Amino acid sequence: MAKRKRSADDDQLPKFKFTKESLSKTSRILVYFSPYKWKFFLGLIFLFLTSATAIIFPKLMGSLIDAGSISDERIKQIGIYLLILFACQAIFSFFRVVLFVDVTEKFLAGLRQKTYAHLMQMPMSFYSSRRVGELNSRLSSDLSQIQDTFTTNIAEFLRQFILIIGGIGLLFYTSVKLALLMVAVVPVVAIVAVVFGRYIRKYSKTVQDKTAESNTIVEETFQGIANVKAFANEWFEIARYTRITDDIRKLAVKGGILRGAFFSFIIFCLFGAIIFLIYSAVKMEHNHEITHGTLIQFMLYTIFVGASIGGIAEQYAQIQKALGATERIMDILDEATEEIDLENRNTSSHILGNVHFNDVHFTYPSRKDLPVLKGLSFQANQGETIAIVGPSGAGKSTIIQLLMRFYNPDAGHILIDNKRTEEYALTALRNSIAIVPQDVLLFGGSIKENIAYGKPDASDEEIKQAAIKANAAEFINSFPEGYNTLVGDRGIKLSGGQRQRIAIARAVLKQPAILLLDEATSSLDSESERLVQEALEKLMIGRTSFVVAHRLSTIKNADKILVIDKGVIVEEGRHSQLSEIENGLYKQLSSLQFQQNKH
Ligand code: ATP
Repeated sequence: MAKRKRSADDDQLPKFKFTKESLSKTSRILVYFSPYKWKFFLGLIFLFLTSATAIIFPKLMGSLIDAGSISDERIKQIGIYLLILFACQAIFSFFRVVLFVDVTEKFLAGLRQKTYAHLMQMPMSFYSSRRVGELNSRLSSDLSQIQDTFTTNIAEFLRQFILIIGGIGLLFYTSVKLALLMVAVVPVVAIVAVVFGRYIRKYSKTVQDKTAESNTIVEETFQGIANVKAFANEWFEIARYTRITDDIRKLAVKGGILRGAFFSFIIFCLFGAIIFLIYSAVKMEHNHEITHGTLIQFMLYTIFVGASIGGIAEQYAQIQKALGATERIMDILDEATEEIDLENRNTSSHILGNVHFNDVHFTYPSRKDLPVLKGLSFQANQGETIAIVGPSGAGKSTIIQLLMRFYNPDAGHILIDNKRTEEYALTALRNSIAIVPQDVLLFGGSIKENIAYGKPDASDEEIKQAAIKANAAEFINSFPEGYNTLVGDRGIKLSGGQRQRIAIARAVLKQPAILLLDEATSSLDSESERLVQEALEKLMIGRTSFVVAHRLSTIKNADKILVIDKGVIVEEGRHSQLSEIENGLYKQLSSLQFQQNKH
């Protein structure tokens, strides 16, 4: 069975409510389950058979004991029955477990893949309103909860249910008086025990939460150790950690007292109740109201029923959690995805690269109150370089995001080759655009694999050529393992300029019609800067390029500069033209920024 990683905030998730809407939503998960329903049903038959054999066992035990006073023959006969019973139970249990695990693993793998694929195809607006950690736990803990429930909890719930009903039924059949006595005592004590147990569990959750909090401190301080040391704040972190671990200690000690009380309760009440019942039964045997065998039979049923009542509450709680988890998974699967074409990955739209923004208005869905672009219009012709400049927060990166169709404009249109971007197939459109971002994300893996991210089926030769064009070949070859050098968490760390050249190599492989560049604000050292700039210039030839520009050289060479402020274009033209506008924003920005860049 898969071990489930429990997170401390598991129990803070909303509880499943049995409304018609929730039930119909969760029941839709059965679509993914239906290919396996017959196997599951067969598993249920085996489950029923195991439970039935379990119920017969006390009856046979009772008969065996009574047989002692009848004959040798009878003892042997019942002994054989018992043997057959256990053999059957062993076989049934085997099939029950194997079938349930088989069904659940297949069902869950399918559901997991489906959910991940669905998440991958969700639009950016979905990601900007969700925390990564939350999505992570949908995929890990929610799906594992469903997995546990299908493998174990449903089966256990049903088994215990059958044991309770069957056990009580057979008790009544054996002796009404004893059955009534048991029904009056055991369920009450078992339920009190469950409630008490729950309280303790809740309490230990608090301890767990605090522990998680203390782990966060450890994690943060280890990760940011340079910061801690730079501020000479070791004492502060030590004090913080000491405080929280002291809290944990106090809580845990209190929890220990509670657990101690719980055990005393169990010993006194639950065992007390069972002993009281046995005492009554022994008295009945003494008065010849029942046989010795019936007494044993009664004791075994009482234990079975008591244990099942205790256990079924836990199973129910787990099933309820799984229903909540299912509802959350269905919420994700119900969300509309982007129209991504997973089948025709290499489609391209044969775009030339004429781009026209026509009165584009845009507000991020997650911040409806803040209009970001307020009627933006401009034209970029095929092969031109457009520099976008403006103060921080003006909306420069937003233009880049709209070009990639991460979002659609609220009003106005973006036309590429005179066709609205919405009319292009999304995958084909994005295949014609490449981006070299400010922060290049390298995946754990080799340099070769990282470059090939621009074209997953690229040959080794293509990758090498791309690296040469991106001015990256030289530094790659200087590593002993060359293109197979590992980067990322478990590999070497590349410098900012090196990472950018990898990103340029990716873009080279993609051969895009439109190139989007987000220049790094922090300037690289001059040699690195020259290599990146040179590679970019080569890459930009013949492509329409939009550059969120910080480097004077890029801006000077641009065919057009768009000066953006608060979501509108305030100035537009070439460097020489804009520099002449007295009191213009461009002039202001350039005197500030480019002065800095020169140093
Ligand atoms: P900078 O030069 O600092 O990168 P920018 O000109 O590129 O700034 P944008 O990133 O386009 O500015 O942001 C424009 C506005 O939109 C800002 O006010 C920003 O807070 C907001 N914004 C950016 N991204 C999002 C988002 N995903 N959700 C909500 N608001 C956003």
